[in-house]
Amino acid sequence: MIVAVCDDRGSLYARAMRMSQLFVQTLRDDPADAEVPSHKLLVRAGYIRRVAPGIYTWLPLGLRVLNKIEAIVREEMSSIGAQEMRFPALLPREPYEETNRWEEYGPNLFRVKDRRGTDMLLGPTHEEMFTLAVKDMYSSYKDLPARLYQIQTKYRDEARPRAGILRGREFIMKDSYSFDIDDAGLEKAYQDHRDAYVRIFDRLGFDYVIVKADSGAMGGSASEEFLAVSETGEDTFVRSAGGYAANVEAVTTPAPEAVEFGDVPPAQVVQTPGTPTIETLVDVLNTEYPREDRAWQAGDTLKNVLVMLVHPDGTREPLAIGVPGDRAVDEKRLETQVSPAEVEPFTEADFAAHPALVKGYIGPQILGEESVSGVRYLLDPRVVSGTVWATGANEEGQHVINLVAGRDFASDGVIEAAEVRAGDLAPDGSGPLELARGIEMGHIFQLGRKYAEKLGLQVLNENGSLTTVTMGSYGVGVSRAVGVIVESSHDDRGIVWPRNVAPFDVHLVVAGKAPEMFEAAESLAGSLEAAGVSVLFDDRPKVSPGVKFEDAELIGVPTIVVVGKGLAEGVIEIKDRQSNTARNVAVDAGVEEILSEIRG
Ligand code: ATP
Ligand code: MG
Repeated sequence: MIVAVCDDRGSLYARAMRMSQLFVQTLRDDPADAEVPSHKLLVRAGYIRRVAPGIYTWLPLGLRVLNKIEAIVREEMSSIGAQEMRFPALLPREPYEETNRWEEYGPNLFRVKDRRGTDMLLGPTHEEMFTLAVKDMYSSYKDLPARLYQIQTKYRDEARPRAGILRGREFIMKDSYSFDIDDAGLEKAYQDHRDAYVRIFDRLGFDYVIVKADSGAMGGSASEEFLAVSETGEDTFVRSAGGYAANVEAVTTPAPEAVEFGDVPPAQVVQTPGTPTIETLVDVLNTEYPREDRAWQAGDTLKNVLVMLVHPDGTREPLAIGVPGDRAVDEKRLETQVSPAEVEPFTEADFAAHPALVKGYIGPQILGEESVSGVRYLLDPRVVSGTVWATGANEEGQHVINLVAGRDFASDGVIEAAEVRAGDLAPDGSGPLELARGIEMGHIFQLGRKYAEKLGLQVLNENGSLTTVTMGSYGVGVSRAVGVIVESSHDDRGIVWPRNVAPFDVHLVVAGKAPEMFEAAESLAGSLEAAGVSVLFDDRPKVSPGVKFEDAELIGVPTIVVVGKGLAEGVIEIKDRQSNTARNVAVDAGVEEILSEIRG
């Protein structure tokens, strides 16, 4: 594409974007509400602008980056045969009612009413709409497989919008969906998406891991997440040297074998006044009831934690969770396990309403649906039959020792809610785990027949009978990617864009006032644009070189070209933003040198 044109005097001038005209206002100070680097830098460098919490405007620079990311996503999606379409963001209630998500989404869903009072919503994700579209248009196995996607604005009323565009209430997602007649088809669609995601994230140029996203209880790799490795991330993941990687929510605990409890003495109530915490309890046990083999440790105690579950229909259910006393209950793991119910603290009023529960001294003897309290009781997988515990005796100031799981108490089931710690063993035997933080960039998920069943998506199979379609859903956080790339690629002066997504290829700076400099830069910009290079041309006549350099470093275009004092000796400077190295090249060789820089 030739974009250099001649003006009416016949001289070449460039169609380059000029800083003098670009709709931008760089800021020297960080915005007051920004905590993470990407948020600070994207606002300061003039890529985005806040409208309301979690809602941002894309300024021209930002939109250029966003468009480049979208282009990469489109290329890779079409390479696996997915077709792009687009649903509305404003949707009717009924489909979401049929899948129960109108309720399950809880306060995260933006619900609106039209002028007739009809319920509508702003789409948080579109499984329902895609499923219904396929149901509407397809009827036979011959129509399948199908792979459809959109790049579209989503709405979620996030409890904690955060970090600029990293967690917005309005954001852009690529969501795709696969439709197959059988499990083998779904596996293939899943694998193709996985491969496409690897290519997308490789091209976007940040460090990422692929982690198991659910406990695998349904078998295999039914769901995986692509996490950008980042200290500012909200997700914690684990990995072992042997190759296991999982979201902390998905880590399963290798449960020990059940043990014989034949010779454990009977449970014994002990007086432990003033010991409502594990620490105080362990101290008193060690002074008053010392063990013969070794000292009491927090891990010998069984801690019973109470929470209040709030189900989507609003019902409140108390839940007790038993974990070894040296571990906390991890809120996120718990939330994942009980979803779609939400977790609220167990208040003083709740204790008052359940007099059997003595705060600080709760023991499992009175827990369980069949017990006096009637409170559902779930145990950490480590509390296997035959394990021996010190725990509450359900009386103020009293505990019980030698309480044996399976002999003296039972539970209503197992729950993976205890915290995961560095050094814990991977469930697949691949060694100890280390913990790190990440930002979820993509999620691939074998949905199976859940949505197709609820919405009645069936097609005729080869034998002429109706069969339910199996589905996958696959998401990429397109707007979030802009933030993630900046998180992984910046320095103390500003953004350092990877070439693939940079808003321009070259940032051309005139550093000086001499008219020859402007002429030389103008001609260089024209030649570069003619060669297909996009140029941000800092042509501002009254701005000092120092300010221009600061802006260039803040904005982060990978190649900065300076036409300045050197011009008198026939040279211009080419700077690499990433390595912060510069070299002089002859003006006449400028275009060639810049092209070789860009094309690597
Ligand atoms: P998270 O755990 O971060 O809330 P999620 O699991 O709810 O994300 P999905 O429903 O799997 O997200 O959505 C697919 C992708 O959309 C995510 O992998 C993420 O990259 C992106 N995404 C989700 N929520 C947001 C948001 N509030 N702002 C920006 N991007 C988001
Ligand atoms: Mg997800």
